[in-house]
Amino acid sequence: MNRSGAVFRFAPSPNGRLHLGHAYSALVNFEMARQTGGAFLLRMEDIDVERCTPAFEQGICEDLQWLGIEWDDVIRRQSEHFADYRQSLDLLEAEGIVYRSFLSRSEARRLVEAHESKAGPWPRDPDGAPLYPGGRFETGSGDQPHVLRLDMKAALERIGSDCRWEETGAGPEGETGTVQGNPAAWGDVVVARRDTPTSYNLSVVVDDALQGVTDIVRGRDLFHATAVHVVLQELLGLTRPLYHHHDLVLGADGRKLSKTNRDTSLSALREAGATPGDIRRMVSL
Ligand code: GLU
Repeated sequence: MNRSGAVFRFAPSPNGRLHLGHAYSALVNFEMARQTGGAFLLRMEDIDVERCTPAFEQGICEDLQWLGIEWDDVIRRQSEHFADYRQSLDLLEAEGIVYRSFLSRSEARRLVEAHESKAGPWPRDPDGAPLYPGGRFETGSGDQPHVLRLDMKAALERIGSDCRWEETGAGPEGETGTVQGNPAAWGDVVVARRDTPTSYNLSVVVDDALQGVTDIVRGRDLFHATAVHVVLQELLGLTRPLYHHHDLVLGADGRKLSKTNRDTSLSALREAGATPGDIRRMVSL
């Protein structure tokens, strides 16, 4: 179907080299963009300025070009747009739905363990991490290290319980079409990190809106996080793209590939003599 105003994007984090899973995602994305007659953008999700480097960014560009993927427009680097995320944080703060959260990771873990030893399992988010055990009641002064969290209960009261998106791919249970998400399952998500004035969840929705993205094509591992993205879009008055979550390329052990595994990195495969056609076959395209 031709939708000439469509805008797709591939949004890797330049904290390592691309692997076969990225190749699959980028190729599916790029080909859907070309089939719809839409644009294809490349965005570097480099808010973690310690782990993300220009060398990894360069490597990503080389790998994509080698695969035959071309992007329209200049690359957007999130690290160059902290002011945009700050503006959105200001809006959320003005609404009174974010709070300063002072518990360190180890303090939070200890609270969860203490609860579990007495009262049984503490709720987990869809990725299996324990929900944040603190909340709005926490006190501390602004100059103590803290992150900003979304008060999910207050956010859901603000937007009503309707958290839906149009899914043209499928979730882990085959969810497709109009999907009703469950943002409460994530608890009070971080919207600004300790040393970074944003988080993945915040910057991804801000950028998708600022770049006019209409179609998000990405791995199924981000399916459940979409519920959080929809909440932030509602709170910030941003448009909602279509979502297409695709299957994941799994390693021989049946697990998701990781950037630390050299065997499946595109650069290592290329050095070993693989061609772009071999990569396509390896990911069943
Ligand atoms: N930067 C994310 C990643 O590399 C992708 C974000 C997205 O596509 O929404 O996993």
